[in-house]
Amino acid sequence: MMKAFAIISFVISVSAWNYKDQDTWSQEYSQCNGLQQSPIDLLIESTIEKDSIPIEFIRYNKIFKGYDMILENNGRTIQLSFSENIPDEFRPSIIGGILGNETFILDQIHFHWGSGTGRGAEHTFNSKRYELEVHLVHRNSKYDSVEGAAGEHNGLTVLGILGGFREISDCLQFIRYSGNSTSLIYNFNPGKAFPVDKMEGFFNYVGSLTTPECSENVNWIVFNDVQRISEIELEKFRSLKTEDGSDLMDNWRVGQDLNGRNVYFIKNIS
Ligand SMILES: [Zn+2]
Repeated sequence: MMKAFAIISFVISVSAWNYKDQDTWSQEYSQCNGLQQSPIDLLIESTIEKDSIPIEFIRYNKIFKGYDMILENNGRTIQLSFSENIPDEFRPSIIGGILGNETFILDQIHFHWGSGTGRGAEHTFNSKRYELEVHLVHRNSKYDSVEGAAGEHNGLTVLGILGGFREISDCLQFIRYSGNSTSLIYNFNPGKAFPVDKMEGFFNYVGSLTTPECSENVNWIVFNDVQRISEIELEKFRSLKTEDGSDLMDNWRVGQDLNGRNVYFIKNIS
């Protein structure tokens, strides 16, 4: 009986928050009121420039079979993850450069998008908001899950890219409704879909997850190269549905106060 009750209350609390009432998130999730929250406005002029040897992108150019990938509509976003038969040591990972000797494994990729022009991305560049932002969530190899790594020092590194990749939008028709999932209809080459290893620099700051529980200690890497995404592709994202059947769009959190944090712009040197 106790167990059943616990499961029910978990379901209720998971579905409690929504993007329309984001100013009330902190009532239930106190960390959303923290001093190191994300996203933020990336002001080019007030960033601190730093040179660093590049981050190493490992297995980013490996080709994963479409059936080894799972794309899911979870009612709040679409999320791409690896099937369980791909263990950590076969997944893309990042190490080196500003990350030092810690290895971070690519755990999942998800998207934030809007209902129209100038809406959708979470980070802004000099207050300019683009229409879509992709998050490549990497957990420290010390942890088995994003949940286990969340909030821990050096637990999570998230790569943020403004813009999307074409192939994913062709799969969205199969996951229109919340709870739908599919394998990819194309093979997946992470470095081709997201050319992170080709980019010359990025913003770096310490922030949080942008959804409840808004856990902090997230190492953010946001690339200033904007990837093009067409209106046709954006419309495919906007045709997805939430749990209650309404349009799944505007799943982005508004900008948070910097509260004196340093934001770096890291330039790769060889
Ligand atoms: Zn995100």
